Amino acid sequence: MHFPERPTFVTHLECAMTGERLPADQPHNLSPKGYPLLVRYDLAAAARAVGRDEIAARPPGLWRYRELLPLRRVENIVSLGEVATPLVELPRLARKLGGAEILVKDEGRLPTGSFKARGLCMAVSMAKELGIAKMAMPTNGNAGAALAAYCSRAGIEAVVFCPDDTPAINMAEIALQGARLYRVNGLINDCGRIVGEGKAAAGWFDTSTLKEPYRVEGKKTMGIELAEQLGWEVPDVIFYPTGGGTGLIGMWKAFAELEAMGWIGGKRPRMVAVQASGCAPIVKAFAEGKRHAEPWQNAHTLAAGIRVPVAIGDFLILDALRESGGFAIAVEDADTKAALAEVAREEGLLLCPEGAATYAAYRRALAEGRVGRTDRVVLFNCATGLKYPMPAVGQALDRFKPIDHASL
Ligand SMILES: *Cc1c(COP(=O)(O)O)cnc(C)c1O
Repeated sequence: MHFPERPTFVTHLECAMTGERLPADQPHNLSPKGYPLLVRYDLAAAARAVGRDEIAARPPGLWRYRELLPLRRVENIVSLGEVATPLVELPRLARKLGGAEILVKDEGRLPTGSFKARGLCMAVSMAKELGIAKMAMPTNGNAGAALAAYCSRAGIEAVVFCPDDTPAINMAEIALQGARLYRVNGLINDCGRIVGEGKAAAGWFDTSTLKEPYRVEGKKTMGIELAEQLGWEVPDVIFYPTGGGTGLIGMWKAFAELEAMGWIGGKRPRMVAVQASGCAPIVKAFAEGKRHAEPWQNAHTLAAGIRVPVAIGDFLILDALRESGGFAIAVEDADTKAALAEVAREEGLLLCPEGAATYAAYRRALAEGRVGRTDRVVLFNCATGLKYPMPAVGQALDRFKPIDHASL
């Protein structure tokens, strides 16, 4: 990276529940009370140091927002070429559904093929800065792949635990990219327990979702990038496939920071958390008016990335949904499959199942009048569709027999 050395504007870390302040520049997991920590900045100083025009002149990608990121020293950046992901319109489906504008933020273009790269390039860069030598994580696949890749890049040891039914391609990429991989006969929260319990004995840093403060800072760049791409405007509604909720929490934080800097106005998108009906703890808590979600029993869905029965940042997700006037919605796997096929066939865009779930949710929400026909909506496709098992297709053609070309 060729940008000049600059100070960053981090002032401290803050317990997301109690507001307790903790010093930056040392390794942290949860707050003393057991809640996620959020990074706080001197946003007035950041706004004096850089303007939107200067940002626009920098190379694309999340590092252009460095004044709003926690890394202090440029030489600690661990990068695999993080691109700005495109907003791809779905004009044909918008016409068919009678909606106004459907934009897909296609995060599958990032290194390791998913938006987990945003969070993990930040977490691993910070780990390098703080002198951490070994990182461990529970994962449903994509986060582990990103951790493995960035750790190898940084020369940090990575140990990854995943449910034993994690998609084979995810397990292969994790191992190939240099992590030590363990398949656990349980779900992601069972894997998380092993990581937490092993901390002292194994000497690894717990990199679980929201149990360290920097993945959310990487993920918040989705919100900054989105606003910049829309001319420093926010869309009317964002549909986000929600597992641990890092991205939703991060974007919500980003919008507040951008407003404090004077880069966007007071308008906020309505935030919609999309879950699978086989694992929908946030949807249930939202419907019941609760601030915390109960652990979901017997979680199952083909959308592995959102098979998260327990989210430690549940209250942050639910707060954002409510403050934004949004909601939480659950989608059946059959509807997700149909959505995936529909978007691929009609628009030529192959989504991951989690991304397809957001389209299925939008369709239903539009039909039920929960979103308006003139709303500009953004759907998050969080990973490349190419990472997922696909159906067998194609008809056999015998080249040794006469071929009726006109009928093909
Ligand atoms: C991790 C993941 C999600 C969920 O993201 P969170 O920000 O942790 O809620 C959704 N889709 C895919 C493909 C993922 O890998």
